[in-house]
Amino acid sequence: MRFLITGGAGFIGSHLADELLLRGHRVHVLDDLSTGSIEHIRHHKDNASFSYTIESAASAPLVAELVDEADVVYHLAAAVGVELIVESPVRTIETNVHCTEVVLMQANKKKKPVFIASTSEVYGKGETLPFREDGDLLLGPTHIGRWAYACSKALDEYLALAYHHEKQLPVVVGRLFNTVGPRQTGRYGMVVPSFVRQALAGRPITVYGDGTQRRCFCHVEDVVRALCDLMVTDDVYGQVFNIGSTEEVSVLELAHRVREAAKSDSQIDTVPYEDAYEPGFEDMPRRIPDLAKIEGTLGWRPTRDLAGILDDVVRSEREAGTDVFTAGVA
Ligand code: UDP
Repeated sequence: MRFLITGGAGFIGSHLADELLLRGHRVHVLDDLSTGSIEHIRHHKDNASFSYTIESAASAPLVAELVDEADVVYHLAAAVGVELIVESPVRTIETNVHCTEVVLMQANKKKKPVFIASTSEVYGKGETLPFREDGDLLLGPTHIGRWAYACSKALDEYLALAYHHEKQLPVVVGRLFNTVGPRQTGRYGMVVPSFVRQALAGRPITVYGDGTQRRCFCHVEDVVRALCDLMVTDDVYGQVFNIGSTEEVSVLELAHRVREAAKSDSQIDTVPYEDAYEPGFEDMPRRIPDLAKIEGTLGWRPTRDLAGILDDVVRSEREAGTDVFTAGVA
């Protein structure tokens, strides 16, 4: 089959390209490299089943052409990362809403199946855990930047489901919870790559708030396996699926575990939220997915635990010998 991946040079998109090619499919990547990197797809350059276009998914004529050549579309192009959202709210809202409009409209012309990547951010401040796909979304006020991201992705979901309902477009929405692994950059504030780079550089590990907030981290290879399986499964169209891990850890404990995995003697500092982000910043105390739906549909569960994930990220950061000396500029 032929797959189009918007955002295919990004962290998750490039792993998805790897997995689809491994499964014997053809892949075309559309990415404007705004947050992705050509390095993430360079290893496929000589693969006859792989091709790419460096351009924005906001370009309707181009998306129309690429959609025509594909059997299935994965729409992953988005502005992601809490820091980017707080710093560039206009770009975040416009990218997330407009590109999704373009992709859905073009896919609809030929009724091509589309996967829309959404996020656990849409659950907002909800406290009824674990989060179920049919549960309420609880967002904060419009003057706080973070909620603009959640709202823009929720609007993507509404639009995708509306296309399915009104125009019978085959769409699937995946709500991705915290996803980590090799190639993720700490530049936009994601906690695991930031902590790993800080630990490897011997710099202080920066825990925001008091570190009691908890998250569940899923390995990107597990996530892309779910993405691939979803689009070859019957009866998934018009539905929303949580994708993530249920192994919870506090951010403070995570800092200790990263330090251990990296065999680092970095100190662990706490940084007030208003210094890390902006005054009035609101964080989620906990975020756990209910996986019953995806497990029931695909038999999917994550296979990698946090210990294995951290070892993998530390190993890949060491191998990349990356810009550890600029770690923390996130
Ligand atoms: N965080 C942190 N230090 C950092 C980056 C993030 O303590 O250098 C915290 C952040 O405030 C949040 C958690 O780690 O509570 C996860 O942050 P991330 O941006 O990775 O994902 P989120 O779950 O907020 O979308």
